[in-house]
Amino acid sequence: HIYLDNAATTPMAPEVIATMTEQMQADFGNASSTHYFGRQAHTVLDTSRHTLAQSIHAKDNELILTSGATESNNTAILQTAKLRAKEGKRIITTAIEHHSVLKPMAYLETQGFDVIYLPVNEQGVIDLADLKAALTPETILVSIMMGNNEVGSHMPIHEIGELVRDSNAWFHTDATQTYGLLDIDVQADNIDLLAVSAHKINGPKQIGFLYVNDAIHLPSFVLGGEQEKKRRAGTENVPAVAGFAKAVELLTPAVKADLQARYAGFKQQLLADLKANDIDFALNAEGADQVGHVVNLWIKGVSTYVLQMNLDLAGFAISGGSACTAGDLEPSHVLIAMYGEDSPRVAESIRISFGHETSSEDVAAFAEALTKIVKRNLAKQAAKG
Ligand code: PLP
Repeated sequence: HIYLDNAATTPMAPEVIATMTEQMQADFGNASSTHYFGRQAHTVLDTSRHTLAQSIHAKDNELILTSGATESNNTAILQTAKLRAKEGKRIITTAIEHHSVLKPMAYLETQGFDVIYLPVNEQGVIDLADLKAALTPETILVSIMMGNNEVGSHMPIHEIGELVRDSNAWFHTDATQTYGLLDIDVQADNIDLLAVSAHKINGPKQIGFLYVNDAIHLPSFVLGGEQEKKRRAGTENVPAVAGFAKAVELLTPAVKADLQARYAGFKQQLLADLKANDIDFALNAEGADQVGHVVNLWIKGVSTYVLQMNLDLAGFAISGGSACTAGDLEPSHVLIAMYGEDSPRVAESIRISFGHETSSEDVAAFAEALTKIVKRNLAKQAAKG
């Protein structure tokens, strides 16, 4: 089986597994304990936190370790709303956010908040003029993702940061799909809150962080002990944090540059192969500034369900929808926002996402398998008349 669904999750790097195994055996102490075992665990936590903070140009005390991007997004949105409700009840986001942003937003709407969902164009990008027009003095939060998990489009984060900096609002961004591939600088981009997850960058699952600018004091989302400077209760998962930091260490600037170049090459190769095989397809979010590892294709005339099922049978793992809702047949809210609900793209698209292990041979084999499946299904449809 060939894995081409790295936007959903990635396999753990062998170095990450080795680090975690060692931690689990050696430093099992509770990082809050004051004895030797606790101190050992706490040291690992501190050094790992430093690595993570450096990776986005933040200070160590600006990171809250969480169970992943879902919790980070929930914390950023719900706790900002709680803290700032007296200042204003207006929040701005986009129509193509991940559900871990959209669901908290929907909840806030039931609590009297006014949530503005900015539209996107066919490239999956907002219009800065729309954001500017929507930003009122009552706006307390702007939550706009850095890179989209379904189509790979990249939002103009620097420009958004500048607009929000000059307003009353705080700027939150879900950087889950760009972290580890692009350089992120929370200071240069005026980002107040930022969510990431380790399992998208060959680290373990259920660990991530929320960056919170140190001028902001969010109330704790998870109540209990005094961990994370009273900002997130619960005994820290030290092996997972160490594994997360190891995954980040592996992503040196040279590795990132190499990955970007390889992914761009794989994408070109895939499109060229399908074209050479006379497949009638179009790239979704064509022309967008794309994250790199995500390719979303409209395969004209064949349904997402048929493509996904037959590719699975042929040994290829891809996604038919968003990262976390693949498997259910909900139409993609991202493709609907980009092309309208009547567009055939909504029912005939697939997402391919490359990872560290992807090879040019994998891409060639995938193009061949997809070609066979598409031709077979179109022939079947033609025969049925
Ligand atoms: N945000 C985006 C853009 C994602 O792709 C994902 C992936 O699942 C998440 C948030 C949720 O991350 P996690 O699985 O760490 O909760």
